[in-house]
Amino acid sequence: MTPRCVFSLLKKRKIIYCFKRIYILNISILCYSSVITYAQALTFHNSIQDGRLIQGSLAKNEKLFYQDKQIIPNSNGLFYFGIPQSAQTPLLLTLQKENTRKQIKLSYEMRHRQTDIVNGLPQGKVSVTVQNKQRIAKENAELKAERRKFIIDFFPICFSRPVQNYRLSGLFGSQRILNGVKSNRHGGTDYAAPVGTPVYAPADGLIAVAHPDMFLTGQTVLVNHGYGLFSSYSHLSKIDVTRGDKVNRGDKIGEIGQTGRTTGPHLHFSFFWYETRVDPELVFTDFPCQ
Ligand SMILES: [Zn+2]
Repeated sequence: MTPRCVFSLLKKRKIIYCFKRIYILNISILCYSSVITYAQALTFHNSIQDGRLIQGSLAKNEKLFYQDKQIIPNSNGLFYFGIPQSAQTPLLLTLQKENTRKQIKLSYEMRHRQTDIVNGLPQGKVSVTVQNKQRIAKENAELKAERRKFIIDFFPICFSRPVQNYRLSGLFGSQRILNGVKSNRHGGTDYAAPVGTPVYAPADGLIAVAHPDMFLTGQTVLVNHGYGLFSSYSHLSKIDVTRGDKVNRGDKIGEIGQTGRTTGPHLHFSFFWYETRVDPELVFTDFPCQ
């Protein structure tokens, strides 16, 4: 059986629109390396798309908001924000310049999602008891609390894959149908490799969670990369870091395993902007390290 996760943690988010004036930007979805378009000095560095981590830049006198959250730039005006895979087009941002605010409307094509049908799973890997639901809720709350922590210690400009030799066994955003029952969309990318395969940090960061045994994700690590960026590593067989450690890109943080709910050895890798999950493979192709 293909090694993959049999769970998903996605939640729908409510979009709040609250300003009157609307300015329209048409965003072409073709070329990452060139500046796409801009309003005032606001510039996006890669294509606008659902489920994508977007990098951009602001002028010093500008502030940018997505829904009710301010997008904080670094000292050079660079920022990241994540577009949920469930977000509807057009996407609305708010740009504040001194005392004026205007709304920016971004239109884009929704990405196609594949369906992932998995049959023959033991029922114990599909259903959850009431007791285990409580355990899952507690563990999710711990991860969620960490993903709210904003630090400015790091601002990665490139990301490398956490596994060097792998087979892609689960795609971000695929619609899971487990034993004939529709599940949530897959919230990460699955990299299949033998137990013991090293897992490396894709960018500099701070170890926020190093948990020995979560119900769904087994041995689990969460890294805070700064400015709302987080990466998580599930089903590990070994963890080489502890909470509070600082890691550099390329440092080994653990080894691939099959702990938690999984059908075989693989790394379930997720990438977040706060609570928004984005496609890890797009992060690696949009912001590669030389
Ligand atoms: Zn997975």
